[in-house]
This record gives sequence, structure tokens and C-alpha cells, in this order.
Amino acid sequence: MDLFEDARSRLYEVLERLEVSDDVRERLSQPVLSLQVSIPVRMDDGHLCVFKGWRVQYSNILGPTKGGIRFHTNVNQTEVTTLSFWMAVKCAVVGLPYGGGKGGVEVDPKSLSLLELEQLARGYIRAIADVIGPDRDIPAPDVNTNATVMGWMADEYDHIVRRQTPAAITGKPVELGGSIGRVAATGRGALQVLDLWVEREGRSPEDLTVAIQGFGNAAYHFASLAHQKGYRIVALSDSQGAIHSEKGLEPDPIWEEKTRNRDLTGMVYCDDSVRGQADRVQEIPQDALLTLDVDVLVLAALEDQIHEGNVDDVQAGAILEIANGPLTSAADAALWKRGVPVLPDVLANTGGVIVSYLEWIQNRTGDYWDEATVNQRLAERLGKETGRVLDRAEEEGVSYRTAAYLEGVERIATAINRRGNRQDWD
Ligand code: GLU
Repeated sequence: MDLFEDARSRLYEVLERLEVSDDVRERLSQPVLSLQVSIPVRMDDGHLCVFKGWRVQYSNILGPTKGGIRFHTNVNQTEVTTLSFWMAVKCAVVGLPYGGGKGGVEVDPKSLSLLELEQLARGYIRAIADVIGPDRDIPAPDVNTNATVMGWMADEYDHIVRRQTPAAITGKPVELGGSIGRVAATGRGALQVLDLWVEREGRSPEDLTVAIQGFGNAAYHFASLAHQKGYRIVALSDSQGAIHSEKGLEPDPIWEEKTRNRDLTGMVYCDDSVRGQADRVQEIPQDALLTLDVDVLVLAALEDQIHEGNVDDVQAGAILEIANGPLTSAADAALWKRGVPVLPDVLANTGGVIVSYLEWIQNRTGDYWDEATVNQRLAERLGKETGRVLDRAEEEGVSYRTAAYLEGVERIATAINRRGNRQDWD
């Protein structure tokens, strides 16, 4: 089964539980718009490189489509479609007035110079400009894109439409209308979801060990805030290696070291790795991190990390998904059978898109808020929606993921029916 089929099978399962009209299944079984583009970039040495990119708008039932843009060698149409589907579910789970979209370019961005990267970002926006906009589809950062990249994209979009349109792209630098608090939002939100669950379980952060796969922006902010709260981070990994310390790791100095040796490209990407710590702590194979005996395993890298082939070796007491889709549905089902709770992506990583929504509101009203206000609004929304999901899981005896999908899909289904349904005529 490909990634999209696998993801959609979860939707179909949930639709069976919900008594909704066939219209809902029909409307949600395929994307509204799927655009493939080519992006020509003149490289520094003079030759022309044409990159493949996509923008997929999955569902616009609840509002304009919303979702990030990823730069990665594994990007393809199926991946972007799946990620756009998850965005649609995710926005609905936390009650945002958005549908779901996603974009991506097939590229190894770390092999580009800073100027080439800027040309790629601008070229991508030129290629998709006709289908985006504040009321249509609003891009944001995702894997390997950040505020700097969003700044270039927002500038390019403003040039194309010949007016200042900050609400067209979120995750921008604060100086260009980005929201304070957006950079840390995904990690902050994920920690809040974990905290709420830990509290319900009657446990306390000081007693819990945590291993984190992935050490990009979201994972770093999660780790830093979790460490401050008293959780013991015993392992971290990134694309180059993994480190382990039973005594506990300090995320801030590790992040500083990872981001210290910056050349020009380093303005956007880290050049170093958590492996730089290897002389002080134990280096372990990346896969070994996934099977450590910890209280919480945090998956903050890419999709499909735990699957039928390694799920039986997972020893963690619970899983927190900061990445999108890190478990296959087979792995998810196996963990549910074993009684290992999973705090799912469509709830746990919504901090980013929630603060994107707050950024969009600030851009549209011209009323800009301080960090405390942004964090408070994030916490209020996420606290309320997490409560609904955890309660529903308990009441219906289903996994947290199923409960989140029930909440989100029910909202989308209601809106589909309100837009007109055959049943209205029966
Ligand atoms: N790329 C992030 C996600 O997967 C953020 C999307 C957004 O802010 O629109 O949730």
C-alpha cells in the first residue's frame, strides 16, 4: 500500500464509525487540486537545473487550504498529497477555519548555495502563484524550509501581485509580519499535549525519560522546553547520527553546537550534527534510538519510521508524534493492541499551524500581539481541543488517533452537509 492509500484507509475506518452521508466519503477521497510544476534555477556555475515541485490542495471545505512547503529529496506527488490530507484532518481537529494543503520540491537543499536556494524558493512561488493567496491557499514552513525561506517567498508573492499581502504566507520573519512565537510553536504545542496526557495519567515529568528522533526546529524547541519542565531527555538523533546518555542530555548546548559552524548556507541549515557531542556522551546507531526502553519516544523526523518491520522492537511506554505520519497504520494498530498509547500527529504537532493561523489573523487585522498573548491563545485552543480528543478516546474506547480523526472528520462532514446534501431533499 502506498503512503496515501495507507493514510486514506484510516479515514475510511473513521467514516464507518461515523454515520455520515456518502457525499463525505466521495468529497474526501481525493484532492481538490493537484499541481505539478517545474522550477528552472540558474546555478552559480551557469548551468540550468530544473527542479520538480508540487502544490496539492486536499480539501477546502472548512476554509482556504493551509500547509507547509518541504524541500527534500524524497518529495513526490504521493507524499505531498498525503501530507495535504493530514493537514486537512489536522486543521479540523483543532477547529481552525482552514482546509488542508501541502507543497514540496524534490531537492537536496543542503547541496545548494544560499543564492541558488533563494532562486528555488522564488521560482517555486512564481510557479504556484495563481493558486495561492490569503483566501485560497496559505503556505508555511515544513521540513528544510524556515522563516528565511518564507521571507523570500512572501517577497516574491508581493512582487507578483503588486501589493503587500502578508497573509498569503505564514511562518515569515517577524520583521515581515511573522508572528512572535511561531518558530517555537510546534515544539511548544507538542509539549502541551504531552503534559496534558501525563497529568491525566497521574504521572509527573521528573519521573519520565524521553528519546527524540529528529533534531530540527520543532524537536529542538520541544526538547528545550521539556528539559526545563523536568523531563529527562536521554537520547537525540538527527539525519547524521544519534546520542544517548542515561543521566540526561541538555538540549540547548547541543543545539548551539549543531548550529554554531555556520557558513552562508548555514543561515538556513545547520552544518553540524548532534554527533558533535559524541566525545562527551555515548553515540548509538540511529535505529537503536527507536527501540530504547524509555517512557516516551518522540518521533520528530519523517514519515514511516515505525512500521511492521520494527514495531515489535519498540519498548517505549508511549509515543508522541511531532513529525507527520511517522507510524504506518499497521504499526499504529500493533501498538494499540499492545496498549502503547500514541499521541497522534494530527493533534500533537498542531502548534505550528495554530500559530500560523494567529499570524494570518494579525496580518489581516494589522493588530500585532506580544509573545505572551500568542502563547496564551495557542495554549487555550490546544488545551481545549486536546481535552476533547482525550475525553472522546476514553468515552468511546478508541485510540487517541481514532478519537482525533472522529473529531476532525465530523467537523468536515458537518460542513459538507451544510453546503448542500441530497439528504436535505429526502
Ligand atoms: N508544516 C507545518 C505542519 O505540518 C505547519 C503548517 C502551517 O503552519 O501551515 O503542520
